[in-house]
Parts: sequence; structure tokens; C-alpha cells
Amino acid sequence: DVDADLARAWVAAVAASVTAHAAELTDLDAAIGDGDHGVNLRRGFDAAVAALAGFEADTAGAVLTKTGTTLVSKVGGASGPLYGSLFRALGKSLPAEVDAVAFGDGLRAGLDAIVRLGKAVPGDKTMVDALTPAVDAYAAAAPAGFAAAARAASAAAGEGAAATTPLQARKGRASYLGERSAGHQDPGATSTALIFAALAAVSD
Ligand code: ADP
Ligand code: MG
Ligand code: MG
Repeated sequence: DVDADLARAWVAAVAASVTAHAAELTDLDAAIGDGDHGVNLRRGFDAAVAALAGFEADTAGAVLTKTGTTLVSKVGGASGPLYGSLFRALGKSLPAEVDAVAFGDGLRAGLDAIVRLGKAVPGDKTMVDALTPAVDAYAAAAPAGFAAAARAASAAAGEGAAATTPLQARKGRASYLGERSAGHQDPGATSTALIFAALAAVSD
């Protein structure tokens, strides 16, 4: 089951990963955006870890909702509201007892929230290009259990992020570059892959 401790471990693992990869995320964003994606996510997930330290919660849903609320309030830029919506929608959709399938339904609700807010579709060179295959791969593997599903999602997110490289951006700051946005991996798709790699790492 996905409980509050596992949700806390996931958020902490994401914070550690975006710190370890902050320079890489910032370099990717410097190439096609404004160079702040690593800084934005570090600030956001460090704030989430700090907020959770003083937060009593019995369920994964409460932990992840709090994480989303913190991201929305602490991160400027596109990624704060978008990832904030993902975690909030995921958290709010989870029942008290979360099995592998329920968690997959929550991830789907998170993807839907990002798409509602940002209006990106797959192929627009955004985080949606990593998140969509990750959510699909998770759902397909969920009958095999949470750890297997998280691993499948992580692999799919990584492939989805890599596949953004040749694309021309149609959403966000990178879209201002037009054709010149092609040839660089999207920073948000890259951070989505880190988020799922962290989920896989804490799942077994
Ligand atoms: P900003 O671009 O405001 O500086 P960040 O650098 O933190 O924000 O995040 C940029 C990332 O946000 C992009 O790489 C892209 O993946 C994602 N993004 C931007 N706009 C959208 C959108 N409308 N829908 C989905 N994702 C988006
Ligand atoms: Mg940026
Ligand atoms: Mg910015």
C-alpha cells in the first residue's frame, strides 16, 4: 500500500533528485527558456519537505495534497502551478487506503489537472510528453503491483522526455523560440522523469 510514510519518502527523494540535477535542469532551461527550472524546483520541493516536517498526516493523500499546495505557493513560473496541480489532484483523489490501482487513478487525475491548466497536448514539448506515457505505463503495469508499476512509469517517462528533443515547442516560454527550440530536451519533461525515477526508487 501507498501510505503517508511512502508519500513523504517520495517527496524527499524528489527534493534530493532535483537538487542533484539542478544544474542540468537549469542548463536545459537556459537553452530554450529562462534558465530557472532547476532553481524553481529546488525551491519548491525543499519548501514541500519543510512544510511536511511540521505536518501531521495519516494518509498519502494528505501528504501529497500538502505538497501540491506548497508548490503552488512557493514556485513562480509555469512549473509551480503545473506540478502543484498534479500533486494536489493526486492527493485529493486518493482514498484512505491506497492500493496500486488507486494510485494509478490518482496519477491520471494529476495528468488531467495539468492538461486542464496548461492546455498542452502530447507533442507540444512539455512535461505532458513525459507524464502521459508514464501514467499510461503505470496503469498497464498496476496489476503487477506498485513497485512494478512505478518502474514501468519511470522508464516510460525517461523515454518520453528523450523524445522531446527533436520537437518544436508549442507551449510555454520555449515556444517563443519557434524552430530554434528543436534539438534540446524539454526541461519540464526531464524533471517529470526525475519525479518518476524517485517514485520507483522509494517503491521497493
Ligand atoms: P518558466 O518557463 O515559467 O520559467 P519553468 O522553467 O519552471 O517555468 O518550467 C518550464 C517547463 O514548464 C517547460 O519545460 C515545460 O515542460 C513546462 N510547461 C510550460 N508551459 C506549459 C504548459 N502550458 N503545459 C504543460 N507544461 C508546460
Ligand atoms: Mg524557466
Ligand atoms: Mg521562469
